[in-house]
Amino acid sequence: MKTVLISGAGIAGPTLAYWLERAGYAPTLVERAPALRRGGYVIDFWGLGYDIAERMGLLPAIDRAGYHVRELRIVDDDGRRVAGFGTRVFDELTGSRFITLVRSDLSRLLYEAMSDSTEVIFDDEIVALEEQTEHVEVHLRRGGARCFDLVVGADGLHSQVRRLAFGPQSAFERHLGYGVAAFEVHGYDRRDENTYLMHTEPGRMIGRFALHGGRTLFVFIFADDAGRWPATLADQKSRLRDIYRGARWEWPQIADALDCCDDLYFDRVSQIKMDRWSKGRIALIGDAAFCVSLVAGQGSALAMISAYVLAGELARAAGRYRDAFNAYEARLRSYIDAKQRGAERFAAAFAPRTSYGLWFRNQVVRAFSWPGAAKLMVGRDITDRLDLPDYRWDGCDTAST
Ligand SMILES: Cc1cc2nc3c(=O)[nH]c(=O)nc-3n(C[C@H](O)[C@H](O)[C@H](O)COP(=O)(O)OP(=O)(O)OC[C@H]3O[C@@H](n4cnc5c(N)ncnc54)[C@H](O)[C@@H]3O)c2cc1C
Repeated sequence: MKTVLISGAGIAGPTLAYWLERAGYAPTLVERAPALRRGGYVIDFWGLGYDIAERMGLLPAIDRAGYHVRELRIVDDDGRRVAGFGTRVFDELTGSRFITLVRSDLSRLLYEAMSDSTEVIFDDEIVALEEQTEHVEVHLRRGGARCFDLVVGADGLHSQVRRLAFGPQSAFERHLGYGVAAFEVHGYDRRDENTYLMHTEPGRMIGRFALHGGRTLFVFIFADDAGRWPATLADQKSRLRDIYRGARWEWPQIADALDCCDDLYFDRVSQIKMDRWSKGRIALIGDAAFCVSLVAGQGSALAMISAYVLAGELARAAGRYRDAFNAYEARLRSYIDAKQRGAERFAAAFAPRTSYGLWFRNQVVRAFSWPGAAKLMVGRDITDRLDLPDYRWDGCDTAST
């Protein structure tokens, strides 16, 4: 039985562990956080990621945890609707296989789907990697030295495995000129259930979304060319306050809520572009390999697709890991490139930098409600142009696409 160390228990990591077990591998998951992360932000989930979740038997639980958003509404300083559209267009484009859910809920469901026998190590991380002829020698910060047949980095945009095996993040990161922050609070008095509200001023956007259990999520996307980020929670809050100083709509109340939050997501909006997603016995999946950025609205699904395909190709190659890694890349490379190009085109739409840009964006959003317009404008980006192979999961796959 082959052993695989997977770094990161987000979306890609648990998905890979789930399918590797079915292929007869023995995965170990190491996660830097002391426990599964909670909260964060909401994601839209559809396409082939949705299909994989179905193959994992997760759709009923995803449906219970998720939200069927009815409307995206852009509001002015006084909260009046200036543009927006009913999200039925997405149902039409995806055959009603579209749901919004908290990222950490998806992560938890994927994690719970893994077999009880999977070894999971929290509060630890890989600090050194050395590839030998027959295995990879890994040093864990707390767990010391161990050997695995293969190592997979599923540790996100700021992947440590990528840094250790391929080089510094700066060699692969393309900053898209925006930053993102998100936090949730309990008991915010305005709700607007199943409606995603957005208020945009030049170069800064605030989103509000009502979550289950009386919680409310706030998301911020703002123009930022520097790409340098404060490290501490206090500095991040103060940076956010600086960026939104003088902002209108509900900013004064949201700023009060920000004072009380103790978990703030704060990062730059970037993509990762690499010539290769594997090197010897080490491979990358999900954001670690090819982060498309939040702008693509599909990073979680892509993380799951990459995990599924890598596990499937390992099953099919019956131990010939180089063949599997090559096949994994060959199958996904052009598909991911297209998703990254789509996201680049779309990036400025979230927080246009000028008043004219804002006006133009709102006209485009209005056009979404015209019959057929949404399909014309985003159908290409929403539809997945990839056939998901039907791998056989007994470790000796020879068949199918
Ligand atoms: C605001 C926002 C909105 C988004 N909206 C959408 C959306 O609508 N639809 C969508 O599909 N996607 C969306 N995304 C993108 C999506 O969240 C990511 O693409 C997805 O989470 C990538 O999954 P992953 O498993 O590769 O990485 P992650 O989910 O980032 O998981 C990485 C894991 O690795 C762990 N880790 C990090 N470093 C180490 C280390 N050194 N050692 C061990 N573990 C480590 C982390 O703690 C984490 O658990 C959005 C992202 C943002 C920021």
